[in-house]
Amino acid sequence: MKVLSVNCGSSSLKFQMYEMPEEKVLISGVFERIGIDGSFYTIKLNGEKTKKEVALPNHDVAVNYLTEELLSNHVIESLDEIKGIGHRIVAGGDKFDKTVVIDDKVLADIDYLSLLAPLHNPAAVVGIKAFRKAVPNAVATAVFDTAFHQTMPKENYLYPVPEEWYTKYSVRRYGAHGTSHKYVSARMNEILGRTDTKLITCHIGNGGSISAVLNGKCLNTSMGFTPNAGIIMGSRCGDMDATIVTYMMEQTGMSPKEMDNALNKQSGLLAVSGISSDSRDIEDGIKAGNAKCALAQKMFVNRIVDFIAKYYVELGGCDAIVFTAGIGENSISTRAEIIEKLAVLGVKLDASANDVRGVERCITAKDSKIPCWIIPTDEELMIARDTYELAK
Ligand code: ADP
Repeated sequence: MKVLSVNCGSSSLKFQMYEMPEEKVLISGVFERIGIDGSFYTIKLNGEKTKKEVALPNHDVAVNYLTEELLSNHVIESLDEIKGIGHRIVAGGDKFDKTVVIDDKVLADIDYLSLLAPLHNPAAVVGIKAFRKAVPNAVATAVFDTAFHQTMPKENYLYPVPEEWYTKYSVRRYGAHGTSHKYVSARMNEILGRTDTKLITCHIGNGGSISAVLNGKCLNTSMGFTPNAGIIMGSRCGDMDATIVTYMMEQTGMSPKEMDNALNKQSGLLAVSGISSDSRDIEDGIKAGNAKCALAQKMFVNRIVDFIAKYYVELGGCDAIVFTAGIGENSISTRAEIIEKLAVLGVKLDASANDVRGVERCITAKDSKIPCWIIPTDEELMIARDTYELAK
């Protein structure tokens, strides 16, 4: 069965088509600068990448190019072969705790939840509508980044603020990267050969979050009401004293929009290092003796270790720690620094095992009390799996 996994941004559309249940990627691609001058798309088929520069005034046009590519490359002979289309949705609020088939009510809910993800949910709605027009017979599903975290108990998702903030304004912890945490925790359980496990999953990319996963279910996660909570990120501050916001607004006259921009786009590794939000640049800076880069890395690692320690206690122990996403999969030094700081828990690095990028493997010594693993994440596959289950 052919299943499409789709991720729509306001000016982009990423896709992968799978043969399911074999989980074979048939074709993948990305449409960029939709609605902006200089638009183009790239397609990867049989290991070969092609780029085409075309006008993409809106998502409908992008979806039409996509279906044309599928047909002209004989990935499918008819659009009816596409049985399922899974859409990645950033915010599901507390309305969705699992992947669902999209009907008009679900679509209206996703639209309403734009309140919580003003950049992402509206783009997903546009994408869903475009695919509905182009491939009306496929079962469309919504796979929510927040769904996996809906099992958190109230004491972990509630903020200690006036009750009305929650009841009237929906202010609570929702978390993010749920599809990734779900994928890597399920894979870790497969490796361990059981599901009654205590796992700490570290999704560390440009954005990052750490989750405590008990028996396959999320117990706690570091991202909060928005993705700007928890660990330090590329250009986001993560957790900090909330009163700094009102203090700085009063001191400088910054508007809410300017403050939002400062906290999300001008903070994190970028602010502390003064040079970049990209961990590769920070690593290069450290090698070149840049003290600010060294400080940024220290703060970054410390905050991650804080969460691992907190979740170790909350879980009452830990069967495995998982590293995933851009930095988790690729930054040898960041993983090593985190693991070395966990020595008090009996965690022991295997430096040569850790000397890899992007492969699944255990990176701790045999006598390490907690094994640490790299598990490359695959959110697209997770979307395809969920969609296959609902479409078959
Ligand atoms: P997101 O999906 O949040 O945008 P990714 O998971 O793709 O982010 O991670 C991107 C980050 O991964 C980059 O900003 C970079 O810091 C880091 N990264 C990627 N490759 C490497 C590498 N080889 N070494 C160190 N860091 C890397």
